[in-house]
Amino acid sequence: SAAPAAATPLAFKVNSPNVQYTDRHILSNYVYENATITKGVDGTLNVNPTAVKYQFKTDAKVPRVGLMMVGWGGNNGSTLTASIIANRRKLTWNTKEGVQHPNYFGSVVQASTLRLGVDAKGDDVFIPFHDILPMVHPNDLVLGGWDISSLNLADSMVRAQVLDYDLQRQVRDEMAELKPLPSIYYPDFIAANQSDRADNVIPGKDKQAHVEHIRADIRNFKAANNLDKVIVIWTANTERFASIVEGVNDTADNLLKAVKESQEEVAPSTIFAIASILENTPFINGSPQNTFVPGCVELAERHSVYIGGDDFKSGQTKVKSVMVDFLVNAGIKPLSITSYNHLGNNDGKNLSAPQQFRSKEISKSNVVDDMVGANKILYKEGEHPDHVVVIKYVPAVGDSKRALDEYVSEIFMNGRNTISMYNTCEDSLLASPLILDLVILTELMTRIEFKTEDMAEYGPFNAVLSILSYMLKAPMIQHGRQNQIVNSLARQRTAMENVFRACVGLAPQNDMLLESKVQ
Ligand code: NAD
Repeated sequence: SAAPAAATPLAFKVNSPNVQYTDRHILSNYVYENATITKGVDGTLNVNPTAVKYQFKTDAKVPRVGLMMVGWGGNNGSTLTASIIANRRKLTWNTKEGVQHPNYFGSVVQASTLRLGVDAKGDDVFIPFHDILPMVHPNDLVLGGWDISSLNLADSMVRAQVLDYDLQRQVRDEMAELKPLPSIYYPDFIAANQSDRADNVIPGKDKQAHVEHIRADIRNFKAANNLDKVIVIWTANTERFASIVEGVNDTADNLLKAVKESQEEVAPSTIFAIASILENTPFINGSPQNTFVPGCVELAERHSVYIGGDDFKSGQTKVKSVMVDFLVNAGIKPLSITSYNHLGNNDGKNLSAPQQFRSKEISKSNVVDDMVGANKILYKEGEHPDHVVVIKYVPAVGDSKRALDEYVSEIFMNGRNTISMYNTCEDSLLASPLILDLVILTELMTRIEFKTEDMAEYGPFNAVLSILSYMLKAPMIQHGRQNQIVNSLARQRTAMENVFRACVGLAPQNDMLLESKVQ
């Protein structure tokens, strides 16, 4: 038999008896320390430090990966595609500020660093985030996808009005060759104002046939491009919420039956999720709707296929998950958070319909819950800051979204602090790098397995990838652990860093800086 393909060259090696390198894997023995707390009858807290042994096994060979976007011809899809082409071809273009080079700014994986340790003098040593473990490079992703609009990617890019003209000009020919596959259109799920785009749809109303169609699309794409793996991401329009109906979408079996019966409440995004899961292909939802109805989550768990969602966390919510974390952890009590958004792209147009706005309002609403819930000094049980979100469609501003936020907080001795923020940015230039991070990290997670002392074999993590929370507005967590969702951006980032550090046998980041405190 053929020798196993060798691991991708590593950026560093850890010298430790707990870490082992084979020609294909990185193996680490790791002790996960935490504390279990119980409350005595008299109210005393009994704290029991815990130490659980884990073994992590990472396949260090980066595979050939395809990214299929649902909504490929949208602002995000076309912007990401053109930007990857520009990076691949190292194109430069003229702007009024001078010659511009392509980059991956805004991607945690590609453009941020993490602290590996200290050098002999005690100075911090940083590495690119993507060097912590072997990860696929965005330039190597093979791109494809679906759209209900038949425009080729060049015309989609022009329609999006996001990238500089001199760049559009140079990628135009290559983009014109890329055409989205026909997609599933159930008009009731997105705004009526989208109907004039829908000229590229899979015919019929048979939802089982639609699942089979998408499954075949994934298989064909994989075969045609000689891929080891495909990741599917929903960056199509925000849908309305599907009603959770007993017998329809509450369990995996009911959901599969509902598809066979072409039940009304199975949304296009859920059809894509089901098809992906059945093709053993991870699926990520970048929009706010409840694609992952309970039956869909159960299906992912049953097949051990990774899913992640919901809703890209690009601007306002990201700032909110920093701001409220800062305020509450500074002992300051936010009383109200009032957010106004206006935007003029097609996303804004779709969100101007009440049901689609409602999906966005829900996904934006819970972002401060964990931080507020963690501080019983500031907030009584059940007490919560007022939190209001408004979104308006203003065509003239195009993709340049504006977010206005006001935070009113109670400070020392009944004082008030008001922070007012105005955030303006091209929406798609914030969201596109998040797609990359979600895809690259999801792919990496498919190569990491773990084992505890109770387990005979290495196994995958729970199907719901909560490690992606940093990039998602309403992060999902495995069923039954809803109150363990973390929204604090700093904690979400630490979780990513520390899980990956564990895989290479390194202790969690601690920021104690004892070296400089004891001299
Ligand atoms: P867009 O409207 O430009 O693109 C969406 C594309 O999806 C369109 O081309 C549309 O034709 C297509 N589409 C609609 N229904 C489809 C279906 N059933 N199958 C295939 N294609 C379909 O929007 P965008 O700005 O690219 O944003 C995409 C999604 O990402 C939106 O739902 C938005 O709410 C979400 N999102 C965006 C951001 C951001 O851009 N900063 C942040 C968070 C979430």
